[in-house]
Amino acid sequence: MIIMDQHAIKKTSDLQSLIEETMHTALKEEQFQVYYQPKHDTQTGKLVGAEALIRWIHPELGFMSPGAFIPVFERTGFIAEADAYVWGKTCQNLRRWMDKGIPVVPISLNSSRIEFSDDQLYLSRRIEMTRQCNVPAQLMHIEVTESMFGKDMSEVQQILEECRDYGFMIELDDFGIGYSTLQTLGQLPLDVVKLDMSFVQQIDDPKKQRIMTGCVNLLKNMKLRIVAEGVETERQYQRVKELEIDAVQGYYYSRPLPAQEFEEYLMSVPVMTHEEGVARHVVRQEDVASYGDIDQCQFLLSHLMTGLLNMWVSSFVIDIRSGRSYEMSD
Ligand code: C2E
Ligand code: MG
Ligand code: MG
Repeated sequence: MIIMDQHAIKKTSDLQSLIEETMHTALKEEQFQVYYQPKHDTQTGKLVGAEALIRWIHPELGFMSPGAFIPVFERTGFIAEADAYVWGKTCQNLRRWMDKGIPVVPISLNSSRIEFSDDQLYLSRRIEMTRQCNVPAQLMHIEVTESMFGKDMSEVQQILEECRDYGFMIELDDFGIGYSTLQTLGQLPLDVVKLDMSFVQQIDDPKKQRIMTGCVNLLKNMKLRIVAEGVETERQYQRVKELEIDAVQGYYYSRPLPAQEFEEYLMSVPVMTHEEGVARHVVRQEDVASYGDIDQCQFLLSHLMTGLLNMWVSSFVIDIRSGRSYEMSD
């Protein structure tokens, strides 16, 4: 028998009502803040990116984490407004940092299913905000989760392809839990996959570790960049390094930081430049040489920094500007 705590239910519904009643004002009054959590390259330790995470400094409820209000925003559709706000603020921050001569890294932004229901609105709003601040598209990464797709992913797939064609990068968040299917990996236009934190956090579970190794190998074969989320300890970091996962995000390096603190962070740690990032991705195609002509491969690599040509290796073409690889059909 389940005994429902009526008092707790009442409290929850009161909280949800309060969130709903105050969210529009909160946006107007700039009660939302965007925090940035650093992502570091596992081999060099350099900063390679960050994830934008929303926070709400509520006048009555105080500091609120997204877990408390995102479900309400999703249910009401307000998430589209909140995410557009996070995108706009991030463009403004990137512009400000670039104007100050601070080295910047790509920022990954979360998204929700509801935002993709109007096929043109999502992309046109993103393009407008990015252009207004004159921010290069490749600095903006869109995070999607598998739970967004349901049975028919063709609609979302189409929008994501248009986003990617414009130059935004696409990341698959929380991979390995819930709805993970190989179909998602095969069908979606992806650049990066973020392994769910449950993998590194269950480092002592041999079964989970075998699944993690299998996932990493599969993703590497698909030429996708891999990020491990939720890395907190040295032991977890070493495990991620052993698996040659590209980057880590987690308390091991840093918690999410308010914009001002992240600005200081950008100035205080070594940052991987875009060109270095691209080169790393190309060189990391370790099996590249064994596919094709090694001399040609090295010749092309030596021209990499000139940005004059796209690199062709075996059945993959690598776009120098973005570092993306495309599989070639015969
Ligand atoms: P997510 O996108 O998977 O973000 C990662 C979450 O893991 C963040 O929680 C982050 O603070 C937390 N985290 C990072 N490193 C560690 C670690 O080492 N250990 C542990 N235990 N946790 C770590 P946060 O900020 O509370 O966000 C929770 C979720 O809320 C996010 O999960 C995302 O799904 C959603 N969210 C956050 N901001 C936004 C937003 O602006 N828009 C949308 N649509 N969703 C958002
Ligand atoms: Mg995320
Ligand atoms: Mg995640």
